[in-house]
Amino acid sequence: MLQTLLHLQEIDIRLTDVRARLSKFPQKLAQVDARVAAAKSELDGSKAVQLATVKDRKKYELDVDQWKDKVRKYRDHSAQVKTNEAYRALQHEVQMAEDEIAKAEDRLLEQMVAGEEYDKRIKVSEKTLKEVEDAARIERAKIESEKAAAEKEMAEFTAQREGAVADIPENLLDHYERIVRKHNGVALAEVREEKCSACGMIVRPHVFQEMRRAAADELFHCETCTRILYYIEPSASVAPSAASASASPARDH
Ligand SMILES: [Zn+2]
Repeated sequence: MLQTLLHLQEIDIRLTDVRARLSKFPQKLAQVDARVAAAKSELDGSKAVQLATVKDRKKYELDVDQWKDKVRKYRDHSAQVKTNEAYRALQHEVQMAEDEIAKAEDRLLEQMVAGEEYDKRIKVSEKTLKEVEDAARIERAKIESEKAAAEKEMAEFTAQREGAVADIPENLLDHYERIVRKHNGVALAEVREEKCSACGMIVRPHVFQEMRRAAADELFHCETCTRILYYIEPSASVAPSAASASASPARDH
């Protein structure tokens, strides 16, 4: 019976592991999507700045045109004025308008230089987005194939578990599952160096002796953590070799 429970525990540990792996896939996929979204918004940002520059440029071009119109009108008008005073006043207006034209042209030039910089930035963002998307495609395919493999394992272990529990009496299975729920999936603990290997508490010597003598269907529990205890007698293969035995002859006497 202990062997059957140990087999069940082995399957349950694998099931816990595969379930934990399966639960991480949605998050992994979301992380990949988030990287693509970030690269997209970077590109959108670069495009928005570029668009604003184009708008500014159009405005400055309009400014230049309007001031040039004014200059033309002042000049036409100055041909008709009769007094020097009026003429000088118009010349002054022309000068001011030309100053405005120069200023608007300077701003226009600045915007054109900036526009080239933004063009470059868009190209870089587009290149980055493409790289991120390519990497994401590969990553998603890898995650999907890992997920498919984990789902296959899950199906296999579930089938194995059904086979394993078929041999276990219902009340013993209930007992096992109660301990599993209490201890995150591990109901059985090996006794090592006369201690429960799960919680580290010492197994009392008379309990330990009884365990070694008991029939296979008798169960012993850790008094502290309540897990079902099992003990594996050291086999011939793990016994000290002739070489190490001769290295410590005093232990034989
Ligand atoms: Zn214990």
